[in-house]
Amino acid sequence: MILILLGPPGAGKGTQAQRLVSAHRLVQLSTGDMVRAAIASGSEVGCQIKTYYDAGKLVPDALIIAMFGERLAQPDCVRGAILDGFPRTVAQAAALDAMLAERGLTLDHVIEMTVDDEALIERIAGRFTCAACGTGYHDRFKPTKVSGICDTCGGMQFNRRADDKAETVRARLEVYNGQTAPLLPYFRAKGKLRSVDGMASIDTVGRAINAILEGHAG
Ligand code: ADP
Ligand code: ADP
Ligand code: ZN
Repeated sequence: MILILLGPPGAGKGTQAQRLVSAHRLVQLSTGDMVRAAIASGSEVGCQIKTYYDAGKLVPDALIIAMFGERLAQPDCVRGAILDGFPRTVAQAAALDAMLAERGLTLDHVIEMTVDDEALIERIAGRFTCAACGTGYHDRFKPTKVSGICDTCGGMQFNRRADDKAETVRARLEVYNGQTAPLLPYFRAKGKLRSVDGMASIDTVGRAINAILEGHAG
């Protein structure tokens, strides 16, 4: 199964992808995580990418398509994957079509998560992740059960993203509206697009997504 979670920064794509991974034995392919890993590694590609990332701009299509394609070719993706943060442009969506065809995979669902801009800003401002296992949290909406300790792995170190500061967030929302929102009519035309109300609680959104995957959503 190939599932794309589509939505602006802070919509809850990563949060829902992590839930689905545990429930459905699928892998989560997050191009944002790939980009952060490349930057952290200090590789040549990482250095090229960093300028775009820091400014809240999209990494050029050719680079991100190559990075994503390499990951999709790994053996753990044979049963499918949850795509979180890719595609983000129409050119990436076209490249994805070709990659899926080559691997005999089909795109099953594209789920759009809609969230108001103000809520996005609040979500991004409070976002942090476990440094050891990557589990995502929020200061207010999804705190750790025990303060300072990761629910998943017991880790005690957490990260906040450099691009989650207010100025960069505004740039990222503009990029979403300009370059990624055109994917909505693109997937709608293919009959693949479904929407969920991303303003609801994490559990409610999770149930709405499951209903779509199980094929009995209204
Ligand atoms: P995205 O991957 O779309 O950028 P995340 O999944 O990282 O978004 O979520 C952004 C922040 O909002 C995180 O701190 C997460 O814990 C929190 N969050 C996610 N979904 C919800 C929700 N439905 N209600 C409230 N907070 C949420
Ligand atoms: P969010 O979870 O807030 O939507 P991501 O972690 O997915 O953000 O992406 C963070 C940054 O990584 C983007 O602002 C962009 O610089 C880069 N990036 C991630 N995915 C892509 C992509 N598909 N195409 C281009 N750039 C990307
Ligand atoms: Zn952890």
